[in-house]
Amino acid sequence: MTTAPAPCPICLNRQPLSDEDIIPTWARKHLRRQFVFGSRDQVLRRIKMRTCKPCNGRLGATFENGTSTMLKPMLDGRPVVLSRRDQRDIAVWIIKTCMLFHVADRETDAAQGHRARRLLLDLIDSRLPPAQTLIRIFAIDMRDDEPLAGDGLEARYDAPPTAFFSVSTLGSLGWEMALGPTGPILEYGAEEPPVPGLIRIWPPAKEPVRWPDSVVTSRNIAALRSGYVRSSKPGMPAPVVHKWKGPEGA
Ligand SMILES: [Zn+2]
Repeated sequence: MTTAPAPCPICLNRQPLSDEDIIPTWARKHLRRQFVFGSRDQVLRRIKMRTCKPCNGRLGATFENGTSTMLKPMLDGRPVVLSRRDQRDIAVWIIKTCMLFHVADRETDAAQGHRARRLLLDLIDSRLPPAQTLIRIFAIDMRDDEPLAGDGLEARYDAPPTAFFSVSTLGSLGWEMALGPTGPILEYGAEEPPVPGLIRIWPPAKEPVRWPDSVVTSRNIAALRSGYVRSSKPGMPAPVVHKWKGPEGA
């Protein structure tokens, strides 16, 4: 007896599935070359999902092939100037990464997984973030290895309610992404950022923006994230947290 392959979580077609890396291989390899990792739990691990070949290829062609060249210096913390188009490409990459987590995560509830899948398909078609999106990027110091999550934070920031949010870092690049009800998110985005060093890339600025501004501490990142956790619906999956260390004594 043969069983039909499980449906691809993105297109739902029943085709043979293969591994797709949510944190793309180019980024993991790049970071591994730049930094000496400590114990096993600090290695930037592979986060895999199973997709069909066409979806795997489409994700690469749409989101990675052009954007990786632009993102590599940012993972190292090297200054860049981002045109309006660059801002869009990075914004789209950040949303795609977040949606893949939700599509892949078995703990995401079915309705949320369905919304993430729809958003991902729209993003593949349009290469444009949904209108109600706010994305700000920042720089972190990779040697700043205070806990990225935890209690006892002095700072408390308010965040808007969201359908999806992500406060995350990869190498020296960090981002804050809020996607959801238009009014509160626009209002929040129009205010002074709660943490200095946040640079808005979506909605994009007409003029090129310079990155980085001042470095954001891991303590402030944790406080920013906990603001979103407080304002989000219960049942959101826990954030994925990576820890890594720079070269010894650096
Ligand atoms: Zn597929």
